[in-house]
Amino acid sequence: MAGILFIISAPSGSGKSTLVSQLRSLVDNLEFSVSYTTRSPRGSEQQGREYHFTDRPSFEEMVAGDEFLEHAEVFGNYYGTAVRSLRDAEARAKDLLLDIDVQGAAQVRKKIPDAISIFVMPPSKEDLAARLRNRSRAEGSITAETEKVIDRRLAQAGSEIVNYRQYGYILVNDILENAVEELAAIVSAERIRRSGREPDLEERRLIELAEGCRQTN
Ligand code: 5GP
Repeated sequence: MAGILFIISAPSGSGKSTLVSQLRSLVDNLEFSVSYTTRSPRGSEQQGREYHFTDRPSFEEMVAGDEFLEHAEVFGNYYGTAVRSLRDAEARAKDLLLDIDVQGAAQVRKKIPDAISIFVMPPSKEDLAARLRNRSRAEGSITAETEKVIDRRLAQAGSEIVNYRQYGYILVNDILENAVEELAAIVSAERIRRSGREPDLEERRLIELAEGCRQTN
């Protein structure tokens, strides 16, 4: 991967989607990888925009054809990042952002060790529970069934959070504007670090600096 590969993971309900969409409007040259999923579209989601919605047999065919960089089962549905997303970003010399779960992140890190991974934490269990409840309320009334889903998601969040040490950055999504700024700062810092590591660029800079210093003498 010529550009930088960013991975962002977070337990469901930690406000990651809002963070990611604000980051995308703030930072240039960052492509967002549209995953494949077997889950149904929610709310205003559109085919090919939030996800490539597909069915299980087609997804399994893609797995068999080795078309995924990573894939995982999350909440009973399949999700996967197509190798093609990576290749397309590469061809356009763009950095790429993957919004994937902890299982997928582990697979990507194995294949691309210099990927930059960021874990978004909810500020507290109470905050996470409130966000999950609000989301369910927005989707309909809270029933005993939705309470069960919320409990399951909270338990799932617990088992995802224990993986935080495997991520390069941990970001607490307490105040949204601050978290977006921090996220953009991570992208900028990693870009600066990467460009400084390009030997040609570094050498050119040093030669120019040396020339400049010599001329002032
Ligand atoms: P949702 O269904 O709420 O959009 O996403 C559920 C979870 O699936 C989120 O944690 C999201 O990051 C994860 N996810 C979305 N796309 C992918 C993917 O391509 N691969 C993996 N492993 N997880 C994904």
